[in-house]
Amino acid sequence: MKIVVCVSHVPDTATKIVVGSDNKTIDANGVTYVLNPYDEIAVEEALKTKEAQGGDVVVVSVGPDNNKESIRKALAMGADSGVLLKDDNYRDSVGVAKALAEEIKAQDAQIVFFGKQSVDYDNSIVGQLTAEMLGYNCVSVAVDLKLDGEKITAEREIEGGREVIETSLPAVITCQKGLNEPRYAALKGIMAAKRKTIEEKDAAVSENSVEILEMKKPAPKEPGKIVGTDSSAVPELVRLLKEEAKVI
Ligand SMILES: Cc1cc2nc3c(=O)[nH]c(=O)nc-3n(C[C@H](O)[C@H](O)[C@H](O)COP(=O)(O)OP(=O)(O)OC[C@H]3O[C@@H](n4cnc5c(N)ncnc54)[C@H](O)[C@@H]3O)c2cc1C
Repeated sequence: MKIVVCVSHVPDTATKIVVGSDNKTIDANGVTYVLNPYDEIAVEEALKTKEAQGGDVVVVSVGPDNNKESIRKALAMGADSGVLLKDDNYRDSVGVAKALAEEIKAQDAQIVFFGKQSVDYDNSIVGQLTAEMLGYNCVSVAVDLKLDGEKITAEREIEGGREVIETSLPAVITCQKGLNEPRYAALKGIMAAKRKTIEEKDAAVSENSVEILEMKKPAPKEPGKIVGTDSSAVPELVRLLKEEAKVI
């Protein structure tokens, strides 16, 4: 079975983000990029699927040359090969999905894993868009997955509980925390990844339907207010919580 896993290359969440001088992009200087954490879960699920069913795991990413670092990390975890769909320019989520759908079609993949969300732009949409473009079934925010031939039984995380659903291949699965515990890339895997192929292709042409007008940091938080340091401050504190903060 051909298994595809789609990965984004994102700023490490510990990185301090600075908006670029154009006010529309992130200043990449000094930013450490990593494999999107939800995509590590997707890679793990793809590898587990291969171990259970046999097949090949192909890692696909859309973006500039640097995305190869995240592809390489997935290869070190155990994926078989990678494809970089090259694009150095801004591409909206629809454009990312278009490029991925074209490649998945060419790979004739039966099951495609995504993270539930890319932790940089947070749209949580690329997996579902890609499924629609391919005409594949789609399971989003999966926290449990079982494959029995063509049949998929999955659990999805929903508000306050879990939903159990059944569908069939071909399918897109978007992976949520709790689905599995991603394996570490051991030294052997890291060495082996250096010999694995990452094919480069131009990403399918796509015209953006979304234009970024501005990127801005959140407004600085108001400084805290110290009402008093002993119990005599309680009445005033209660009054402020009631009348100003309106939380009690
Ligand atoms: C070359 C390039 C430059 C960009 N520049 C900007 C920019 O300057 N400003 C801006 O706001 N946005 C930019 N983007 C982001 C773009 O707008 C998309 O939104 C982004 O690629 C995906 O983020 P998302 O929040 O839509 O993903 P989500 O829908 O949250 O991602 C869900 C899942 O889809 C998969 N996925 C997401 N992105 C990719 C990818 N690129 N390749 C493979 N799988 C993926 C992953 O499995 C991920 O977990 C750029 C994208 C590209 C490719």
